[in-house]
Amino acid sequence: MSSSHIAVLLKESRHYKPSAFFQKKAHIRGLGALKAMMRRAAKNPERFWADAAQQLEWIKPWKRVLDWQPPFARWFVGGKLNVSVNCLDRHLSGPRRNKAAIIWEGEPGEVRTLTYQQLYYEVCRFANALKSLGVDKGDCVALYMPMVPEAAVAMLACARIGAVHNVVFAGFSAEALGDRINDAQARFVVTADGSYRRGAVLKLKSAVDEALKSCPTVQKVVVLRRAANEVSWTDGRDVWWHDAVANVPGECHPESLDSEHPLFILYTSGSTGKPKGVLHTTGGYLTQVALTAKWVFDLQEEDIFWCTADVGWVTGHSYVVYGPLANGATTFLYEGGPLHPEPDRLWSIVERHRVNVFYTAPTAIRTFMRMGEEWPRRHDLSSLRLLGTVGESINPEAWMWYQRVIGGGRCPIVDTWWQTETGAIMITPLPGATVTKPGSATMPFPGISADVVDKHGKSVPPGSGGFLVITKPWPAMLRTLYGDPKRYEAQYFSQIRGNYFTGDGARKDKDGYFWLLGRIDDVVNVSGHRLSTMEIESALVSHPAVAEAAVVGRPDEIHGQAIAAFVTLVGKRSPSPELKEELRLHVAKAIGSIAKPAEIRFSASLPKTRSGKIMRRLLREVASGKQVQGDVTTLEDFSVIAKLQSQEE
Ligand code: ATP
Ligand code: MG
Repeated sequence: MSSSHIAVLLKESRHYKPSAFFQKKAHIRGLGALKAMMRRAAKNPERFWADAAQQLEWIKPWKRVLDWQPPFARWFVGGKLNVSVNCLDRHLSGPRRNKAAIIWEGEPGEVRTLTYQQLYYEVCRFANALKSLGVDKGDCVALYMPMVPEAAVAMLACARIGAVHNVVFAGFSAEALGDRINDAQARFVVTADGSYRRGAVLKLKSAVDEALKSCPTVQKVVVLRRAANEVSWTDGRDVWWHDAVANVPGECHPESLDSEHPLFILYTSGSTGKPKGVLHTTGGYLTQVALTAKWVFDLQEEDIFWCTADVGWVTGHSYVVYGPLANGATTFLYEGGPLHPEPDRLWSIVERHRVNVFYTAPTAIRTFMRMGEEWPRRHDLSSLRLLGTVGESINPEAWMWYQRVIGGGRCPIVDTWWQTETGAIMITPLPGATVTKPGSATMPFPGISADVVDKHGKSVPPGSGGFLVITKPWPAMLRTLYGDPKRYEAQYFSQIRGNYFTGDGARKDKDGYFWLLGRIDDVVNVSGHRLSTMEIESALVSHPAVAEAAVVGRPDEIHGQAIAAFVTLVGKRSPSPELKEELRLHVAKAIGSIAKPAEIRFSASLPKTRSGKIMRRLLREVASGKQVQGDVTTLEDFSVIAKLQSQEE
């Protein structure tokens, strides 16, 4: 972390008010109401969060809202509750009992619906099965599961008995799975024979077998039959899911758990290096996840909410499973590839299931832009009333495309900033209240204190770029890095005194809106000007030929660093030297000649994490002609790097 100042180049003046139609039913209506609530919450955040926690069902009330011994927080101290009771049992006494909790579509096309009553039954049975296999309160259970209802069932079953789940994304290799099982000391693994992905079967059980060769802690493996592919079997260790639940009762008494009882460990996606085991606990996590799900996605009783994230990411934990179910909402799950069998699969799902609220990642939106408007145009998307994004900054042009083509110009967009570590949404519009600006995550959620500061922790003036920090503890914050409190402190609380350091750059504009500038590590330094990669990328994406861009700095004798841009073109355009020059001039014109790339390389794809984020760390090495080093286990497709390296400038 050298200097904190980041130059700001991007100018964006478009803004959108929520429509009167949307506002009519919204939970939070109008800017006045939101501002008043933000002020109240800022004055007394503990009272605000205590009110939110009251919406949950507690077995025993807490004695103290917050115990803050920096950098360690405990929320709702002394309180006892159970997450699965909050997501299931309490919806069974009224009309929600027979409402769809989960609607699922498999990649081959089959559809299943689980009502709250049915989900409760499945969760209780699986919880009993886990117990009879020897899972105790506090044990860690690794889940390596396809996107099927049983993934949610397994998570909720763990929560019911106080076991700690560690979901590992099913696209990760055996090696990455083994690392995570060992780091979390998991004694149990739940998986499936296979899963459908892009028309093929992903063999999950064989990856588990491979991983377990080096995982001495694991005693039992539960295997769901999903794809009916052949599996090898280790007697005494492996158990079929259907056998495990065959003779157990359909009721399972929920454990009364301390508010600070661990709920899950989740390893971050690793855009920046060695994965970290983020630990989340019970009461504070559920409080913030439930409230943000309700207000940010404006969940209404009759909505179908579809968050496209995999359960392997924090977004899948908080907004596929816990947030919607805590609100008694209907959550939609899809198993397979978004472009299978054709690039309109998601839009076909929206049309057939009448999805109302849709939450996805910028990487998906850029892919759809590249594929062309004709795919969504084939479908009736009129059921959609609200759209969301998370994962990276959304380039203003991608935001506009999302609003126009998917939202039909009618749906508000919530650009939500948060992290695995924050557990829940932190900076976001509230769709019935906030005036949105394309590319801005707008303002902190009520009760959240965020700021943009220099390296001494001093607020920078409006319009300047700096470090994004969270200045006060929040209920869903990570409690530690599993087994490594020193790294927790060093990583998050030692860089800027008294603050949680997010690792991201940002600026606040004169209206107090936050604009995320990308990761601090990615900032490019050209002749002493610190430039945000995100702004240069957005300038490139605003050219009609460009679908996606990644910008990095490479060493340069004269300027310190020079800007190298990797560019993916829209379907109809092809690379040419003239286009390179045109793009360089386009950037210069859009945001200034200081940001003009020294080098542009066209590429059919960019290296991404398995959660779809551009890995600039690797592109930096490619751009400087070095061999790519460091952890690449979270990289989606190594051949992308090989192709880029073999490409001559
Ligand atoms: P690692 O920390 O291991 O490198 P990661 O940061 O990609 O992985 P996540 O916790 O999934 O793992 O991602 C959080 C990060 O994603 C944020 O710190 C930020 O950089 C980016 N991000 C998420 N949402 C937004 C958003 N709405 N706008 C801008 N950036 C976002
Ligand atoms: Mg991170």
